[in-house]
Amino acid sequence: MTQGAQAQRDPFVLDIRSLGRRPGTMEEIHRTVVAPNRIGVEMIAIPADSDVDLDLRLESVSEGVLVTGTVSGETEGQCVRCLEPVDGTVTVFLTELYAYPDSETEQTTDSEDIHRIVDDRIDLEQAVIDAVALELPMSPLCSEDCAGLCSECGVRLAVAEPGHSHEIIDPRWAKLADKLGSLEQKESQDSDSGERGSA
Ligand SMILES: [Zn+2]
Ligand SMILES: [Zn+2]
Repeated sequence: MTQGAQAQRDPFVLDIRSLGRRPGTMEEIHRTVVAPNRIGVEMIAIPADSDVDLDLRLESVSEGVLVTGTVSGETEGQCVRCLEPVDGTVTVFLTELYAYPDSETEQTTDSEDIHRIVDDRIDLEQAVIDAVALELPMSPLCSEDCAGLCSECGVRLAVAEPGHSHEIIDPRWAKLADKLGSLEQKESQDSDSGERGSA
């Protein structure tokens, strides 16, 4: 398989053989890859099949490879108040150590707490997913003061007429209001007739 095809399939997997396991050796990676999956949180994310820019430095250290740098991409989301599209970019800064399989770090650290080098490769995907999820807002807004939607009719208040409001009562209440109205009328008729009767 060519390197290109490999990169296409696993864009966040980096080959570290060129570092040769010599502490102090460095390699820079400036590459645009295509996100194989959506990366983000429920309301906003880097969509699948969109570009992700990697600007990373790989540095060989005694325990493994230290990855530092930025990962960025364009995001698509929805305003939690008005549901209008919210576009933007997200940039995360990574500082991740990937340990050699036989290093002391690898042997003394819980498996969940450490990234590993497997077959001379490091897989950045989980680190990118975690960092992007932390960076993106859980409740994205189209603007800080988004007024949201009218709770009665669902119109976006930003485009509704000023002072948008509703005189009309909800149809379910309208029926009840009719009933109450006719009851009141009946009562007043009753009391009218009662008064007349006693008079
Ligand atoms: Zn909004
Ligand atoms: Zn309304």
